[in-house]
Amino acid sequence: LSEFQGKHVTVAGLGVSGVPAARVLHARGAIVTVVNDGDDARAREQAAELEALGVTVRLGDGATLPEGTELIVTAPGWKPDKPLFLAAAEAGVPVWGDVELAWRLRGPDAAPWLAVTGTNGKTTTVQMLASILRAAGLRTAAVGNIGVSLLDAVLGEEPYDVLAVELSSYQLHWAPSLRAHSAAVLNLAPDHLDWHGSMEAYAADKGRIYEGNQVACVYNTADPRTEDLVRAADVQEGCRAIGFTLGAPGPSQLGVVDGILVDRAFVENRYKNAQELAEVSDVEPPAPHNIANALAAAALARAFGVPAAAVRDGLRAFRPDAHRIAHVADIDGVAYVDDSKATNTHAAEASLAAYEPIVWIAGGLAKGATFDELVARSAKRLRGAVLIGADRALIREALTRHAPEVPVVDLERTDTGAMLQAVTEAKRLAQPGDTVLLAPACASMDMFTNYNERGDAFAEAVRELGA
Ligand code: ADP
Repeated sequence: LSEFQGKHVTVAGLGVSGVPAARVLHARGAIVTVVNDGDDARAREQAAELEALGVTVRLGDGATLPEGTELIVTAPGWKPDKPLFLAAAEAGVPVWGDVELAWRLRGPDAAPWLAVTGTNGKTTTVQMLASILRAAGLRTAAVGNIGVSLLDAVLGEEPYDVLAVELSSYQLHWAPSLRAHSAAVLNLAPDHLDWHGSMEAYAADKGRIYEGNQVACVYNTADPRTEDLVRAADVQEGCRAIGFTLGAPGPSQLGVVDGILVDRAFVENRYKNAQELAEVSDVEPPAPHNIANALAAAALARAFGVPAAAVRDGLRAFRPDAHRIAHVADIDGVAYVDDSKATNTHAAEASLAAYEPIVWIAGGLAKGATFDELVARSAKRLRGAVLIGADRALIREALTRHAPEVPVVDLERTDTGAMLQAVTEAKRLAQPGDTVLLAPACASMDMFTNYNERGDAFAEAVRELGA
């Protein structure tokens, strides 16, 4: 009999995680009630689907804890200070997220998880990792926030040897019993602080990824907070702390020597003190932050026993997703690069560090961010800047303070033609050898549906100019 038989489970939130969770729990004999804040057409459609199975759905009321609830399974995005959770805490009702549910439902011979979190670079790293594992002949998938859902991966027919799992800070918050084979925190910069309440709480939630690790906790030597999280974690006996660095690696680290990615942590031949893995040029794009992603992916794969040659083959086979430092075109000696996915300042700083000189296209919705540090650190690389979007004044003011000599074009318009004008202005500012870089450091929703549409508009504009 399933542990859910006859149990009163409340699923908080319809949507991508709630609907499958409700289905699975219902199929295992739970008495399921779904509560949902919204009451729109999409919610009604999903509700009708579930009600047809015999699930109770309460639309427009996500705050009240249904009578008799023994367990809540929540969508990861729901904030911990919601009245529903306060009521649950009072009543001693446990709360699981979608990841916790998947973790608990996996079978006895389930594939181990290699898990990745961080403020930026998660998707890229998990995809690199999956590519490396595949090159080693392992049956795997990139799961979590991307690709296959965790529940599908855990409950589906497809057999896996190992999973490459991307986890957000929200998902980790709600996953108390997750125990990965090995895990990496790529970096930590202030993000989603309104949700977590403070930087400390955000870091602590990210740090949960290391709890109970079996083989390796992978951290970023350039980001001491990630190493602090490893130290604070309670891991299994024999689990090692493995650092990655863009410099020469020390013992128990992976790093870079003369353009070669090397491993001094998992060495195949004990008479050698370092194992060559791949060349920097095997990584696409070979920007510093992306080499860091590759090293983190390599560290997790090596912790799982993958040989060096498979790391190289997997990195060579990897192609980044759209809008992540994608080279769009070269026109008159100027490169046009789309990093529309740089939706926060930390991500934008990484791509700004990869080029020089740059004509920078930035702006959008700032989400409460400040731009002084980003601009101060990137100022010397800037040939010029073209600002778009609702919060562009914040970036303009930072440029005035820290880069007064950099010419700035401030575009007031926010209609669909604005991107073409932005690229036209950027082209005017650029000289041969320069890079025109769309790295907005902001969300896109003031002018576009999402960052994909923003990146597409950029690429379209570049093609129009080049034609
Ligand atoms: P995530 O899944 O964490 O959002 P992605 O792999 O989709 O991360 O990359 C998002 C953006 O973050 C990229 O477009 C790039 O600008 C930036 N980025 C990627 N890796 C890193 C890194 N290691 N450090 C800083 N920024 C990064």
